[in-house]
Amino acid sequence: MPGIFIDVEVDDSIRNDPELAKKLEDACPVDIYAVRDGSVEIVEDNLDECVLCELCTAAAPKGKLRVRKLYDGTALES
Ligand code: SF4
Repeated sequence: MPGIFIDVEVDDSIRNDPELAKKLEDACPVDIYAVRDGSVEIVEDNLDECVLCELCTAAAPKGKLRVRKLYDGTALES
């Protein structure tokens, strides 16, 4: 199920980077990212657990990852 409060957008240009996928999987404290066949998978069931820690946006290349706060229309950006 997609998140009600949070959505995560990963740019296609980095989605298939296995190193980044692993970095995101390791960084997120609530397991929103997983490595699947060497690509970044978003674990939709966990989206609303996001604690806005910014570890994922810090790990991703600039402008390529966005954590959208659906409840107020703002976002955290890498
Ligand atoms: S901001 Fe933190 S909790 Fe939210 S998706 Fe990124 S790493 Fe996970």
